[in-house]
Amino acid sequence: MSKKELLKVENLKLYFPIQGGFLGRTVNYVKAVDGISFSVYEGETVSLVGESGCGKSTAGRAILRLEKPTEGDVYFNNVNMNSLNKQALRSLRKDLQIIFQDPFASINPRQTVIQVLEEALLIQNIVPREQRRDRALELLEKVGLKEHQADRYPHEFSGGQRQRVGIARALSLDPKLIVCDEAVSALDVSIRAQILNLLKRLQMEFQLTYLFISHDLGVVRHISDRVIVMYLGRIMEVADKKSLFEQARHPYPRALLSAIPVLKPGQKRERIVLTGDVPSSIDPPEGCRFHTRCPYVQDLCRKEGPELRSAGAMQEGHVSACHFFENLYGEATG
Ligand code: SF4
Repeated sequence: MSKKELLKVENLKLYFPIQGGFLGRTVNYVKAVDGISFSVYEGETVSLVGESGCGKSTAGRAILRLEKPTEGDVYFNNVNMNSLNKQALRSLRKDLQIIFQDPFASINPRQTVIQVLEEALLIQNIVPREQRRDRALELLEKVGLKEHQADRYPHEFSGGQRQRVGIARALSLDPKLIVCDEAVSALDVSIRAQILNLLKRLQMEFQLTYLFISHDLGVVRHISDRVIVMYLGRIMEVADKKSLFEQARHPYPRALLSAIPVLKPGQKRERIVLTGDVPSSIDPPEGCRFHTRCPYVQDLCRKEGPELRSAGAMQEGHVSACHFFENLYGEATG
């Protein structure tokens, strides 16, 4: 059975203008997201990873229309979101939700948790008034919170509990796709595992699709089906989780992966230390964006930006944007 494409992102760009001079004219742009394309299929978890400033969170916000893209198209369920008027976009929004790192950053601290959830249900008007409290309590139970916690205020909850409420709020509108933006980054390791397991369980129960944004490859390994690696606003590599973790074909993800501690005693992994800082996304390097930090840079890399291309005939969907991956690592095998 063929997979259903739920989300399609085509050449998405998001530039932030930089104002300067006496008249406050736009003098340049921060090219936070600079032409990315990918698809997410129904029921899968796709992770967007990369160092801070690579554009992954901005991409998530542009997909949800929390920021207006500068260019490009986002199709949700085959509908181009560019073609929708405000009202149609608003009604589509209930299918696309987000879980933030701190779900309470955008919530009124004077509202109790049950009020937060009831308000979410009220905004989209999908549950009759008299059923709202019951629905909200049901959601709290789904995320592992108890009825007696419903009338508490956000500051009375621990980090993990707050994230559970954030998940309940995202679930309240019965979404199809949830963008998890560094959703577990601020949590302790043991709580992080609990929340990841909760997300997995809810995915099965509600047939959810996740776009999981994280800088933490350990977390990504736990939750993803496929992984998209970004660097300076562009995609460097896309692969299913196993292929990426075992056979990354691009020097950038290989360097990121080399920094993950090996848990098996006696086993070692060669650490690839990247030198230099990530260049500015105001004036990104010509050619391959990674060339200023790549240990294998050649002249061509400085002149010509590599396209994403198949990393090996045996690896459907594994693509890498490096001119020389065959010479460096060979093709990915099945
Ligand atoms: Fe390195 Fe060149 Fe490949 Fe870019 S294209 S990753 S600079 S070898």
